[in-house]
This record gives sequence, structure tokens and C-alpha cells, in this order.
Amino acid sequence: MQPLSDALASFWQIWSPMLILDVGRYLVAACGLALILKLFWNAGLSRRKIQARWASRSDVRREIVTSLRTGVIFSLNGAAIVYGAMNGIFTIYTDFDKAGVGYLVLSVVAIIVAHDAYFYWTHRLMHLPRLYPYFHRTHHRSVAPTPFAAYAFDIPEAFLMAAFTPLWLLFVPMHGLGLFLFMAFMIVRNVMGHAGVELMPRALADSRWFGWINATTHHDLHHATFHHNYGLYFTWWDRMMGTEHPRYREQLRGRPADGAAVAADSAARSAAVAS
Ligand SMILES: [Zn+2]
Ligand SMILES: [Zn+2]
Repeated sequence: MQPLSDALASFWQIWSPMLILDVGRYLVAACGLALILKLFWNAGLSRRKIQARWASRSDVRREIVTSLRTGVIFSLNGAAIVYGAMNGIFTIYTDFDKAGVGYLVLSVVAIIVAHDAYFYWTHRLMHLPRLYPYFHRTHHRSVAPTPFAAYAFDIPEAFLMAAFTPLWLLFVPMHGLGLFLFMAFMIVRNVMGHAGVELMPRALADSRWFGWINATTHHDLHHATFHHNYGLYFTWWDRMMGTEHPRYREQLRGRPADGAAVAADSAARSAAVAS
């Protein structure tokens, strides 16, 4: 029995910090943003609400329960990554002198760009009718998402999302701080995409220099209308593949007439979800 209890103890030693990190970053980001929305609601955020529809209490409860489950799956993935690093499968280093700060910054930018591509294409895959019911239905039960929907995934979707980091690490050595910054960026952009309120400047709609950054309206439209806007951080892939919502930029500018057209789209989508 001793070896088994030793193995369990060492597994717990690796897993428990990951559990705190993954569940913790979800709770901090989602609760933090929910609090910001509440505090600044009357100060102007109410005017930036994207949809007329509101999430119900049971929607929020489902979003939290399924997101916490994803947090646990991510933490098991994190434990596997630590184990892999301890056994030389992945290179995660902590010495700043090893590759320099320039490499650290570059590797963080590269992992974010690669993750956006991974997200876009796996997201398109999960929308295939054969895969959708098993991989992605839970996420789309939130037609008007809240920040708590950030990790509201079916179990297969959670594993597919988790797989990105170990795949990346097979090829690219990362500083521990770089990985932490990537994780932090990922969850912050994720909860922002589900805020239900436009948090980005409306000028992004027409900005030549920054129009490639996804505003909250981008992912909100994905939830509301289902068939467009598959990207996570950037608009590149949607524009390249012709999947950007035709009214995204109009909606981001905040023009009520276009909002009404999207609402009609969205109502049709809700009817489809309910059936
Ligand atoms: Zn989707
Ligand atoms: Zn979403």
C-alpha cells in the first residue's frame, strides 16, 4: 500500500497548485469582471449592453458549474504538463538568463497568435453537425453570455481546449512566467468576450491599425447568431475565411437599426436552441 499512497501524495503535490491556479484564475477573472460591471453599470456600462436579452439565474448557475468542471480538467492537464516537464518531455525554464527577455516576450506573442489559430480551427470543427452535440452544445446554451460562461464547456471541448498547451510545448520551450502571462491573457480576454457589454472602444470598428483586435461584440455575436465570428482574440481568421458576421462592424459602432437586425437573427437562433 505504501507505494500507492506515495504515488497519490506526489500526484496531489503536483495537482493541487494547478487546481488552485486554474479554478482560481477563472473565479478571479469572472467574479472580478462581474463586480466591475455591477460597480460601473450606472456610470455608463448599461448603455453599452450588447443584447436586449438577459441571462437567467439558471443560465448563470449552469455557466458556473460547467466552468468549474473545466477548471478541474485544465488543472489535470496542468499536472500532466508539470509531470512532462519534470521528465524532460517539455522545456519549461525559470532562469531569465537562459534565453533572455527578448525570447520570453516573443514566445508569449507567438503562443497567443498560435492559440488564436488553434481556437479558430477547433471551433469550426466543433460546429460540424456530427461533433457539435458532444463538444459544443453546452457553450451555446448561453445565447446571452455572462463572464461566467468563459469555461462553460462540454467535457470533450474542455479536453480539446486543454490540449493546445502541451502540443505547443512539444515544440517551443517556454519560461514559466511566459506560460503564466499567456494563461492570464487567455482568461482575461475570455471573460471580456462573454461580458455581454462592449468593453472595447467602438472606434475598433473602423480602425485601420487596431481593427484586428476582437471587441466583445465579436464573440457576443457568435453566441447570439451562431454561424459567424469563430475567432478568439483577433479578427484575422474570420476575415480571411469569410466568416466574420456581416453586421459586426455596424453593431460595434452601436447603431440601433443594425442592432435590431441582429436581434432578429438572434431571435431565430434562440428558437433553434429551444427546439
Ligand atoms: Zn461556437
Ligand atoms: Zn463563448
